[in-house]
Amino acid sequence: MKKFYPERVLIEKEALEYPLGKKLENKFLADDMAIEYIKSHNRVSPQKQMSPLQLFKWAKETLVIGVKKTLRFKSCQPSADYRLVTTTSCPGKCEYCYLSTNLGSAVYPRVYVNLTEILKAVKKHIRKAKGEMVTFEASSSSDPIAVEHLTGTLKETIEYFAKQAKGRLRVVTKFAFVDELLDLEHNGHTKFRFSINPPWIIKNFEHNTSSLEERIKAAVKIEKAKYPLGFIIAPLIIYHDWKKDYTNLLATLKDNLANTTPLTFELIQYRFSTRAKKLIEARFPKTKLKLDKEDYHHQGFGKYIYPEEKATKLKSFMEKEIKTHFPQAKIEYFV
Ligand code: SF4
Repeated sequence: MKKFYPERVLIEKEALEYPLGKKLENKFLADDMAIEYIKSHNRVSPQKQMSPLQLFKWAKETLVIGVKKTLRFKSCQPSADYRLVTTTSCPGKCEYCYLSTNLGSAVYPRVYVNLTEILKAVKKHIRKAKGEMVTFEASSSSDPIAVEHLTGTLKETIEYFAKQAKGRLRVVTKFAFVDELLDLEHNGHTKFRFSINPPWIIKNFEHNTSSLEERIKAAVKIEKAKYPLGFIIAPLIIYHDWKKDYTNLLATLKDNLANTTPLTFELIQYRFSTRAKKLIEARFPKTKLKLDKEDYHHQGFGKYIYPEEKATKLKSFMEKEIKTHFPQAKIEYFV
């Protein structure tokens, strides 16, 4: 797939005080892009009234360049100690993306130009832990690989973490654009996890993202570059061919990877909320996602997961298959 190039660019005026803000402005001006200058990256909307469907399309084609103001990081359990936010949202259009739900109309991809300040805040959070190892999740609010070709931010972040004795970076992606990251001095301090699913799921629900084949090729490159590597299988969906497809998925991974380092797997079952259901149905009127609340277990607060019996079946099937294909792998969690 092609790398993201926006239809329109909006720049927060303050972002122009930073070298990356200026560099991006110059790049898009040179490309004859009509740039809109805005006061805040948090309040962006189109000039005219749009339906939810049109608004979603508009937002995903827009790039917003801003300054990250909140430098006190939130917790990011179960994946890491803290969220490290250098970008928000992404150009992908995954139907079940929880970010797309949480962000509502502010689902446009945003990149932050004050990386030096963000990394200073990382240092503060490491110091606060008084010698304990601290982990930071770079993908809690976005897919940073999707916009890396524009910013180079992840590259700098990986190099920064390579020098941290007590800080580790974790990245998750559904994109395959890792070539610029392969020769970096990472010191094994950044762990990549590829978010994968059988091709039927990617084709039907993960629009504007890399194919499974592309993701696996990228994972092989990351493994060769000696980064710690893992996979997130999410969301795990029970559908007509799920058993056969998940077995094939793990077999394909096994065939392609050299399997020189112990892999990790994170497993997240399909879920939705009342708010997500409303937004998914408005943005993807022909969705094949199953969203009938009565077929699911209500966890409270409008959140739905598979009934216990189905969830247990899914968990034990995946654990058995992972153990068969990757006996040394560690399953970090199933939620
Ligand atoms: Fe959301 Fe990740 Fe899909 Fe982007 S790639 S839309 S962040 S789930």
